[in-house]
Amino acid sequence: MVEQVSITLSDGVKRSVPKGTKLQELADEKAVAAQVNGSLVDLSQTIEKDAVVTFIPITSRKGLDVLRHSAAHVMAHAVKELFPSVKLTFGPSTDTGFYYDFDYDRPFTPQDLERIGERASEIIQQDFPFIRTEVSKEEALKTFRDRGESYKVEHLGDLPDRVSLYRQGSFVDLCEGPHLPSTGRIKAFKLLNVSGTYWRGDARNQVLQRIYGTAFPDAKGLKDYLLMLEEARKRDHRKLGRELDLFSIQDEAGPGLVIYHPKGAMLRTILEDFERKEHLKRGYQIVIGPQLLRLELWKQSGHFENYRDKMYFTKVEDAEYGIKPMNCLAHMLIYKSQIRSYRDLPFRYFELGTVHRHEKSGELHGLLRVRGFTQDDAHILCRPDQLNDEICAILAFVDDVMKIFGFEYEMELSTKPDKCIGSDEDWERATQALLHALKTKGLSYDVNEGEGAFYGPKIDVKLKDALGRKWQCATIQVDFAMPERFELSYVGSDGERHRPVMLHRVILGAMERFIGVLIEHYAGAFPVWLAPVQAILLTVTDRHISYAEKVYASLIQKGIRVEKDFRNEKLGFKIREAQVQKIPYMLVIGDREEKEGTVSPRRRSGETMRSLRPEEFIAQVESEYPNL
Ligand SMILES: [Zn+2]
Ligand SMILES: [Zn+2]
Repeated sequence: MVEQVSITLSDGVKRSVPKGTKLQELADEKAVAAQVNGSLVDLSQTIEKDAVVTFIPITSRKGLDVLRHSAAHVMAHAVKELFPSVKLTFGPSTDTGFYYDFDYDRPFTPQDLERIGERASEIIQQDFPFIRTEVSKEEALKTFRDRGESYKVEHLGDLPDRVSLYRQGSFVDLCEGPHLPSTGRIKAFKLLNVSGTYWRGDARNQVLQRIYGTAFPDAKGLKDYLLMLEEARKRDHRKLGRELDLFSIQDEAGPGLVIYHPKGAMLRTILEDFERKEHLKRGYQIVIGPQLLRLELWKQSGHFENYRDKMYFTKVEDAEYGIKPMNCLAHMLIYKSQIRSYRDLPFRYFELGTVHRHEKSGELHGLLRVRGFTQDDAHILCRPDQLNDEICAILAFVDDVMKIFGFEYEMELSTKPDKCIGSDEDWERATQALLHALKTKGLSYDVNEGEGAFYGPKIDVKLKDALGRKWQCATIQVDFAMPERFELSYVGSDGERHRPVMLHRVILGAMERFIGVLIEHYAGAFPVWLAPVQAILLTVTDRHISYAEKVYASLIQKGIRVEKDFRNEKLGFKIREAQVQKIPYMLVIGDREEKEGTVSPRRRSGETMRSLRPEEFIAQVESEYPNL
């Protein structure tokens, strides 16, 4: 008689199965992996003791990761066969696909990519099982030394004594898994492009060739994604940023450092003005902290210990300083500058705070990943009994703002990471506070285990742009640790000193990143209230210039952002240029307009409107502003 073990499935159903049963035998056809007592494992794994088992369907976030990461192994397999001198490094899945970085003596060409894709298809056809083996580090070292895989050998140095290898056919990789049961489960995949990168993302290291690809559960998903990519290429904020003359990032100035040109600076100013107003309406106070703070302070906060790799340091008259990567510290010093009473709480300090973080050069990307950026940052110091209301108010704030921009969004709760400060009890309280607020507001959310900030758990808000892509924007973090470290206190109704709780939160996040997202979301055609240039005056002939100058003066007086094109060019040509610049309104001025004292507006869509007097046009523009 075979010994039986009991498994509890995700729907709560309990089953008794023979010990040693393969998960595969219990899974339905959609499952690609399983979570057994919390850890993600291959379906080839057997059940040896009582367990809680959740099958991971291919269509879920985790399932897609398993599919795509497995596809990365298949691609690496094909590359190894076609280019045997290639050395393997890492090949993770990403939010939208996968990549694998290879050390090779030249960049891969589009023809190479085609061959690799064809070979990968054959490997999929052959339906090799992904076979996991657990071996000692010694044995793994030997395997990879024999194969000349020096990066795997180096990586093994960081790993524990037992590691897992995965094989499919002749290919072997060092990996934790899990993977699909076999290569044949990859039904729709495509290799996308190649780019250069560096080993461990560091420009001082060896140049690597990164091949990107993606995989989907079915052909339709892949096709939709490829169409979306095509559209995204047209909307690329780096391309539009150049064409619309919004910003530049110049090597001369430094990678990851954004230079705002007049129109980009205008867009940012509009957003900042909007933010100040919205924060003041909600009881925040505007504060401004310094760019440098003494190193001792960063040690006290735990940043030096936990965040040093991303910080820049400098020396002034023999004293060491850290350039702020976050805005928290000055805000705490403001709080600490006076004795605070329970009646005064909460304090909501808001700063458009510019921070600098050392992002690896290989990871920089236009405005989306930069080294210097400005956050719409706030720190709320409140009593523990105010925490729920404060978090709920922030969630409502996020909702208001996302509606104004027309974004849908999703919430994620991130919990305690390995590297952190604060007691387990504080982490539990903080996590419960966030959960409670999410429940109070009746919001649904996903959980990211271990993805919290080093000082506390957080709610991340991911907005969805016009192409359905998700972008991180708002985050709300509860922090019991920092007030402790800085000995913040308030005098309670009992006359005793108590610790306040601190919330760190941003709404839009980094302005740079948000602007990058806005450019792509609107494809550069900003709504009137955000457009750096709202209207352009187009004269029909030189005869109309003096009237047009008067119109210009009256519009700019009233705060309309208007440009003029009085060049001696054909009207059609001037209209086309203004359309390329995606200016919401073109105001045509000819004989009739001059005689009537009007302008003839034309929208960037091509739609012409009846002629309007300048004040009527101003009213039209203002009617398109959101109700703030
Ligand atoms: Zn793997
Ligand atoms: Zn903070």
